[in-house]
Amino acid sequence: MRDIKELSLKELEDKILSWGKPKYHAGQIFNWVYQKGAFEFSDISNLPVALRKSLADEFYILGLHLADFRKSVDGTAKFLFQLRDNNLVEAVSIPAAKRTTGCISSQAGCKFACEFCASGLKGFKRNLTCGEMLDEVLYLKNNLQDTQLTHVVFMGTGEPLDNYENLLKAVRVINSADAFNIGARRITISTCGVIPGIKKLQEEDLQVELSISLHAADDKLRSRIMPVNRKYPLGDLIKCCQEYIHKTNRQITFEYILAKGLNSDSSSAQKLAALLKGLRLAKVNLIPANPIPKLKVIAPSDPEVAAFKEYLFKAGLNVTLRRPRGQDIDAACGQLKLKYEQI
Ligand code: SF4
Repeated sequence: MRDIKELSLKELEDKILSWGKPKYHAGQIFNWVYQKGAFEFSDISNLPVALRKSLADEFYILGLHLADFRKSVDGTAKFLFQLRDNNLVEAVSIPAAKRTTGCISSQAGCKFACEFCASGLKGFKRNLTCGEMLDEVLYLKNNLQDTQLTHVVFMGTGEPLDNYENLLKAVRVINSADAFNIGARRITISTCGVIPGIKKLQEEDLQVELSISLHAADDKLRSRIMPVNRKYPLGDLIKCCQEYIHKTNRQITFEYILAKGLNSDSSSAQKLAALLKGLRLAKVNLIPANPIPKLKVIAPSDPEVAAFKEYLFKAGLNVTLRRPRGQDIDAACGQLKLKYEQI
């Protein structure tokens, strides 16, 4: 059995033609799968019965099932999915005033081992297929209550740019008017700083948002808490960002998790301001750390966070503060999966 979501519209048209049926049925199937939320071919009522049977004999629509679900008092919901090979991945829906964002995983486990991240604790299992990433989006889209999925961020488990081809295929389907029809500017790819992936992305004809997990502004600390920095150090990363901005004229958001005793003092703020000073179209998003008891990570106090932000603002940086969401349901990357595996 194959995942039908691995097929582009053109590939599905060719398949339908090979069965001697008119290719317009492919558009109907896309519409039912991606927009009307059909999880079974038998639900696609405007297809000939014989075609529904041929489809069901060869393909499936949804390749995961829900293993756990938690909803926070702030509306954030966390979905733990079991894949067909029993690997577990997480997705989160985050409602806000006028938008609901789906945070999607791109790999089962992660090989990048960032110190503050629960996802890296159990190592890397495998890349998700395009269809599995679309499964997460599809499940969220069809199971949100009182709200619609408006934005997608690849910020869940895994490094999206380490699974480049599958990621781009999924992004194009999410963006496609025939499928999810979510605007490219509402799709964010978040990387820990994989330079070859950023260079490839700048050559794509896609207006997606790019976000870089920075979390430290000197090589010594960043190499310790984010081993990827040993391969792609800050000097090379910032040079690559300059090229990306020059080529695309698009902003890059730098995510900076503030953790007490690690990267939230005044000297860290000074280093961060100096690092990003010359970077046109850079935005810094400060995120007080979600507590992870196993990793002994805690957030600084509110006054410390405010002082850090103020320093960057006065240094001329575009800076925002994002409050962590869903703390009561372990919404930070990898935490629910970690708990589930310990049960
Ligand atoms: S922060 Fe991202 S890249 Fe780093 S270990 Fe976690 S999932 Fe992997």
